Parts: sequence; C-alpha cells; structure tokens
Amino acid sequence: MVAIRAQTGYVPTVSPVRSCSRTACRQPAVFTLTYVYADSTAVLGPLATYVEPHCYDLCAEHAERLTAPKGWEVVRLPAGPSTPSGDDLEALANAVREAARPARPPAEPVGEAIEVGRRRHLRVLKSVPQPHGRDR
Ligand SMILES: [Zn+2]
Repeated sequence: MVAIRAQTGYVPTVSPVRSCSRTACRQPAVFTLTYVYADSTAVLGPLATYVEPHCYDLCAEHAERLTAPKGWEVVRLPAGPSTPSGDDLEALANAVREAARPARPPAEPVGEAIEVGRRRHLRVLKSVPQPHGRDR
C-alpha cells in the first residue's frame, strides 16, 4: 500500500509504481501485456519483474478492456492475490518469450509442439527442434 501524505507533499519512493502504458492513463499497472509476434498472441499476465521492449504495462481497467488485433489471440494468465512470486510464472514467461524468439524462418510451418508448462487451463507449447537440420 502506498500512502501519499498530501500535507507534507512527501511521496514514498520505496517501491516505484509503474503506471499504465496507455496514453493519458495514470492508473498503476497491475498487468503486463506481452506480444508474441511469432504466434500472433497477446499474453496478459501479472506485472512483469522486468520491463522489456515487447511488454506493455496495463492497469486493471485497460487489461479488462483489452482486445486483440484481428487474427490475434489473447491469453490471460490468472493473476489472483495468491499469485506466487516464484519461479512458476517466471518459467512460464520465459517459455513464452523463448517461443517468441524467431529461431526459424517464419515462413516455415510449425511442426510438432511439446508442452513445456501448464497453468490451470493454459498450456504453453514450444516447438520441438528437429533432429535433423541443426548442424550449426
Ligand atoms: Zn490504464
């Protein structure tokens, strides 16, 4: 909780609050939106620890109203009060980012996929490297 004392004008700076990235919105960000261009997926999850170029911080309201561009899919990660700050979400986020990395030419169709993580109804799929063709 951040208590702002108007009388003294003192604003605590212990935990810097990131604000919503939407124009003219000053709400504190509670979600991070990550665009996974390779999969045409927008992943809406708990506020990320690190700010990355493809990530956008959103307040609760804008996260609620989020709509994906045409042809895109929105994946909403559960962000309850009991959300652990642990490795689970981080691993999931890493898996998503890993999958977003253009390791192969985008024209090549994605073949098999293995499940690398599961969180309630969500499954994170990751392309399986082909046994052949990884001579490099
Ligand atoms: Zn907002």
